[in-house]
Amino acid sequence: MIGNQPLIERDHKVLWHPCTQMKDHETFPIIPIKQGQGVWLEDFEGNRYLDAISSWWVNLFGHANPIINGALKDQLDKLEHVIFAGFSHQAGIELAEQLVAITPEGLSRCFYADNGSAAVEVALKMSFHYWRNKGQTQKTRFITLENSYHGETLGALAVGNVALYKETYAPLLMDVITVPGPDCYHREANETWQDYSERRFALLEQSLQQHADTVCAVIVEPLVQCAGNMRMYDAIYLKLLRAACDKYGVHLIADEIAVGFGRTGTLFACEQAAICPDFICLSKGLTGGYLPLSAVLTTDTIYQAFYDDYQKLTAFLHSHSYTGNVLACRAALATLTIFQQQAIIENNKQLAKIMAKAAQRFNDHPHVAEVRQTGMILAIEMVKNKHTKEPYPWQERRGFKVYQYALSQGILLRPLGNVIYFMPPYVITEAQLFHIADVAWQAINRAVQD
Ligand code: PMP
Repeated sequence: MIGNQPLIERDHKVLWHPCTQMKDHETFPIIPIKQGQGVWLEDFEGNRYLDAISSWWVNLFGHANPIINGALKDQLDKLEHVIFAGFSHQAGIELAEQLVAITPEGLSRCFYADNGSAAVEVALKMSFHYWRNKGQTQKTRFITLENSYHGETLGALAVGNVALYKETYAPLLMDVITVPGPDCYHREANETWQDYSERRFALLEQSLQQHADTVCAVIVEPLVQCAGNMRMYDAIYLKLLRAACDKYGVHLIADEIAVGFGRTGTLFACEQAAICPDFICLSKGLTGGYLPLSAVLTTDTIYQAFYDDYQKLTAFLHSHSYTGNVLACRAALATLTIFQQQAIIENNKQLAKIMAKAAQRFNDHPHVAEVRQTGMILAIEMVKNKHTKEPYPWQERRGFKVYQYALSQGILLRPLGNVIYFMPPYVITEAQLFHIADVAWQAINRAVQD
């Protein structure tokens, strides 16, 4: 057995990990993972970690899933990748057909990219380019919501609003219109999610009224602002937004990269508002957490504005080397097969109820301001003062203490600031959910001690 230590040392010499102050690893070493099975990850010393956050929200049906493994092994001997300009392949075609069939009615064209941020870049560029092709060259701006997150490449970062990721790079970013968001954490004590979301929508409508002439699109994360501390809002907001975008002649981009594929209780979050966006961005769970792939689906109206003689120079310009990678498309098709063959959405409804039950006692915790849930996402807001919701100073890193303790107990939780959340693979069991909640309870109790 080689053990963890040699790999930890080699890692520390040459690697630079994402979203990490590398100096932290001087005292809290990285964990090298040898293998995974279902909800479990295992290191080189046989320690196991329950993946309660689906490895950054990508893994839907567990690690080493036999159906996805089988599909990839089968594909591997036939074709691994082929240039996607001038050439195509069966997996890419089938996947596009299926995505068109399962996404909200009205989306009929599929454009591939290779990660979530790239999908957001594609949607932003397509929206801008549509208006340009239509002669509306004054439309160059985007409206985004406070506390939103859409990725970390420069365009995606610009339309996001989480200071941690954005502030440092602000001088590099395009100017966007940021409006107060619908995040229901801030609602009045006796106000429903629906009332608050509706009330907050008025602020977005004002902005549309004022800027519609120069705005290409509004971009939102439907129902849950995931990287923005798992803040949630009511579907009414999306319904009103769709109507307003139509009224003011502005596109609606639904970034379902994190919330798509069953996370919120429906296959896509937009279904809960019964709306069809002009663009939907998909990634993460699209391949069941196996390979990087993203897709932007859009309408025929938008597609047609680009479809013309070459000399008109209206074609969409965006290309990544790995666009539509065959293996990634196969993993995605296998993922969709699992959705078709098993009653995943129904099963998730039961799991969501169990999650609620397992987390119920956090409501009374003296340092928890809110327990909120949308489908398979449950978040616990740890605060200094339960009544005023005064947060702990970020410098105290209480969430990091939760992370460290949970790992010592064999659970991978990775809080966002002081928000502890459960976003497990859909193959998790009732007993495992209760176990996660128990460990989180102990972890919070330790983290709030002074
Ligand atoms: N949009 C949303 C809503 C996301 O949650 C993320 C990733 N956390 C992204 C975009 C970016 O995806 P990627 O990390 O694959 O670039």
